[in-house]
Amino acid sequence: MNKANIRSKHYQVHVIADRCKECGFCIEFCPQKVLIKSAEINSHGYHIARSDDSDKCTGCNICAMICPEFAISVTPIKEKVKERR
Ligand code: SF4
Ligand code: SF4
Repeated sequence: MNKANIRSKHYQVHVIADRCKECGFCIEFCPQKVLIKSAEINSHGYHIARSDDSDKCTGCNICAMICPEFAISVTPIKEKVKERR
């Protein structure tokens, strides 16, 4: 019998571009060094922090908690996994 489970494997880090003030806290404190300063500039003239799109993010949420602008959210990417029996 086949079963389909939903599990969280990776995480998506979303930065609200216009809130970022380029302080670099998220980049400095991410234990996995997932966050980087991008070349993209927001409407206030700051370089936006973003994820490096690797799968190293553990979903610890430190970046979201430390951002003084509340610009970051971390959400699990749900993936359908088939279990074969
Ligand atoms: S902590 Fe927030 S404001 Fe600072 S660089 Fe990161 S996303 Fe931008
Ligand atoms: S959730 Fe944790 S591991 Fe993922 S980017 Fe934020 S600080 Fe880094």
